[in-house]
Amino acid sequence: MTADAKLLALLDAERDRQVDFLQRFARIDTANPPGDTRQAADFFRAFLDKEGIAHRTEAPKADNPNIIASFDGGKGPGRHLVLNGHLDVFPVGDRNAWQRDPWSGDILDGRLHGRGTVDMKCGTTALLFAFAYLHRLRAELSGRVTLTVVSDEETGGKWGTAWLLENCAKEVTGDCVLNSEPSGLATVRFGEKCMLWLRFTIAVKGGHSAYPHTGGSANKVAAALIQDLLAIEKMTPDEPATVRATLDRPEVRAAAELSLGAGAADVMRRVSVNIGTIQGGVKINMLPPDCVLEVDFRLPAGISRAAVLARVAEIAKRHPGTRFEELLPGGPEANVSDPTHEMMGHLLRRADALLPAPPQPIVSLGGTDTRFWRMKGVPAFVYGCSPAGMGGVDESVSLAEFHHVMKVHALAAWDYLTGR
Ligand SMILES: [Zn+2]
Repeated sequence: MTADAKLLALLDAERDRQVDFLQRFARIDTANPPGDTRQAADFFRAFLDKEGIAHRTEAPKADNPNIIASFDGGKGPGRHLVLNGHLDVFPVGDRNAWQRDPWSGDILDGRLHGRGTVDMKCGTTALLFAFAYLHRLRAELSGRVTLTVVSDEETGGKWGTAWLLENCAKEVTGDCVLNSEPSGLATVRFGEKCMLWLRFTIAVKGGHSAYPHTGGSANKVAAALIQDLLAIEKMTPDEPATVRATLDRPEVRAAAELSLGAGAADVMRRVSVNIGTIQGGVKINMLPPDCVLEVDFRLPAGISRAAVLARVAEIAKRHPGTRFEELLPGGPEANVSDPTHEMMGHLLRRADALLPAPPQPIVSLGGTDTRFWRMKGVPAFVYGCSPAGMGGVDESVSLAEFHHVMKVHALAAWDYLTGR
């Protein structure tokens, strides 16, 4: 049996064990907030112990443990591959809206039910098993593999991935990262947009509606300001050449639209501006003296936070009484890995062999922990189950997709660590 076939045999032989693990994991409440993942971490550590894989825990916050497990390949030094998934999940929301217990782990018609099964208990479990199988076949591998199972992803990663990269950089930085957040089987994500949140405060004289000539209206200023802010959507990004060439391809555009909705192929590559809240005015017959706007800008690769902030400052100057502040200062930039990186090739080829149509490389509209690696220049790629139902009521994941995602990651990692 070739080593490749040995890996495939392991993946197929243990399907029941894989489903059983995912089901038990789905039954552990890891809702964030509050984000207490201790029980889930115990569950993962018990699995690693059983597999005879060394691991350790970093818990800068006691109820937010992060697990690091590593091994070296038997064929000598080589590249260091890092696998990354998170334990915490979105909160349940309105419990009464759910048809079954959000922590049931029930299996029905090939789907496993529970909060967080899509984001991302399916993916984190897939990586854990892929890691264990690579460990069993480590004699055939060069280099090193590290699994990072983290907490605090849903609330920003400060105590999870960001903390590990800051404090255990040598162990977890690696040369390349695989992550299995929900992407949909038809796309592999090599980058993501970032968000820039601003609050605008407009303060003018105000007065009586019948005397508009005696005072200003903050709401009127806001209306004009909004028009100018929306024009920021027309900024042209300075995309890296390989990114532009990839995202220009018609099949990539089609896959983005299919996966993220009609219009996504353009939204992926431009700033989007959402006027999230407007609060202004006291009474219908008064000129509003104040208006406050909160605006969410999503930036694509090739447009920096600084460039947008400079543009906003210029605009704000033109509107009387207008000030603005950044709500989450120091946030990440939009980030992309090279879409022609070797790992992208492995993921696309391995997934293509199992799918009716070849998957395509795209950029994600939302954020994942992979940004922390990309910001350090480490290429990171995301491939996971369909995001449909993620964070909604009656969340459930397809078990066929669960096995598929595990297989693609295990085989792509295999290719990377055997230099194929
Ligand atoms: Zn997630």
